[in-house]
Amino acid sequence: MGWPPAGGAATIPVFRMSPTDLAQPHVAKLHAYTPGLQPTEPGWVKLNTNECPYPPSPRVAEAVRREVGEDGASLRLYPNPASAPLRAAVARLHGLAPENVCIGNGSDDILNLLVRAFCGPAAAAGYTVPSYSLYPVLVGMQEGASEIVPFDRSMRLPVERIASSRSRIFFLTSPNAPTGVAFANADLERILAAFPGILVVDEAYAPFADEDAVPLLARHPRLVITRTLSKAYALAGIRVGYALADLEVIGLLDRLRDSYNVNRLSQAAALAAIGDVDHLRANVGRVKATRDRCLAEFAARGWFTYPSKANFIFTEPRDTRGVAGPEVARAAYDFLCARKVLVRHFPSHALTASFLRITVGTDPEMRVLSESLDAWQSNRSA
Ligand code: PMP
Repeated sequence: MGWPPAGGAATIPVFRMSPTDLAQPHVAKLHAYTPGLQPTEPGWVKLNTNECPYPPSPRVAEAVRREVGEDGASLRLYPNPASAPLRAAVARLHGLAPENVCIGNGSDDILNLLVRAFCGPAAAAGYTVPSYSLYPVLVGMQEGASEIVPFDRSMRLPVERIASSRSRIFFLTSPNAPTGVAFANADLERILAAFPGILVVDEAYAPFADEDAVPLLARHPRLVITRTLSKAYALAGIRVGYALADLEVIGLLDRLRDSYNVNRLSQAAALAAIGDVDHLRANVGRVKATRDRCLAEFAARGWFTYPSKANFIFTEPRDTRGVAGPEVARAAYDFLCARKVLVRHFPSHALTASFLRITVGTDPEMRVLSESLDAWQSNRSA
């Protein structure tokens, strides 16, 4: 690589170029992912980023304390570079070998590695829209080509369209975000039978669903499943996620990942959480019971709501005149915000703009939500 860099140097002397001018053009044009708000002041009913409303296993805090020890001396040392004990535990959990597992700094880290491995200017990544809005951001970072497969309002999986995609890698979220709609393994198998690239099934929310794609891994070496500890394990703060895949795919991810991509405390916390199966079951069971009760409540309100298999609900608010639409959703969002109830509104896509995405909270939190929505409806009709 010469200096000054080729290109713009001919017109602007390098010493006068701004950092943006000096940056790779595709980086200068990037739009970063927009995370949900994380308010710092207390008093919010926070239903906007699909975190778990209940604490993680008590074994997690114990394990972190043990790892830190009396004086933090262990923190002098780098963590296990491959997260080997955690990798082995995740493999056991899913009936796989450690060579089928890559641990990441959140599943976002894993998704980033997958895009870096399989996508570039001449190698497209495909994804559905609407879905997790990080995928296009990651593709943009690689200056990657992309192929968008749109949903229609039914949110049924466009199986044939994905099966005939010629992208190198295709990202599918199941249950999908922000709708909560889960896709059947039978449909995934129809895609896998025809699609020649890498199919990533992002299963961030699978612990809340009735089915997952792990049994398909044995028959499909180009299937990658990504999971996170941020939702069902109630550990969004520790940033641990993982990929399950054929060892050849995992080998590629291992070449790309930071050598110490998961810190010591996160490895210890995740290992403890994965070991407490009863705690996971209890938390997931409580969230699902609340979700199903809330789905029935939204149906009783007469609001169109997708059949969620995740820990959130995607519903189309109607005021008492029966009107729905982007302005109505925005008004409901603002009204809730004013009452310190935080949900998510995605105004930039026609299929999402009339909806609110509401994370399933505790029963008392959902009562506050429900009362606030009642108040909003009576306000609007006044
Ligand atoms: N996939 C989907 C579909 C998600 O909604 C999220 C959470 N925003 C993630 C992945 C990322 O999870 P993590 O916290 O493990 O990075």
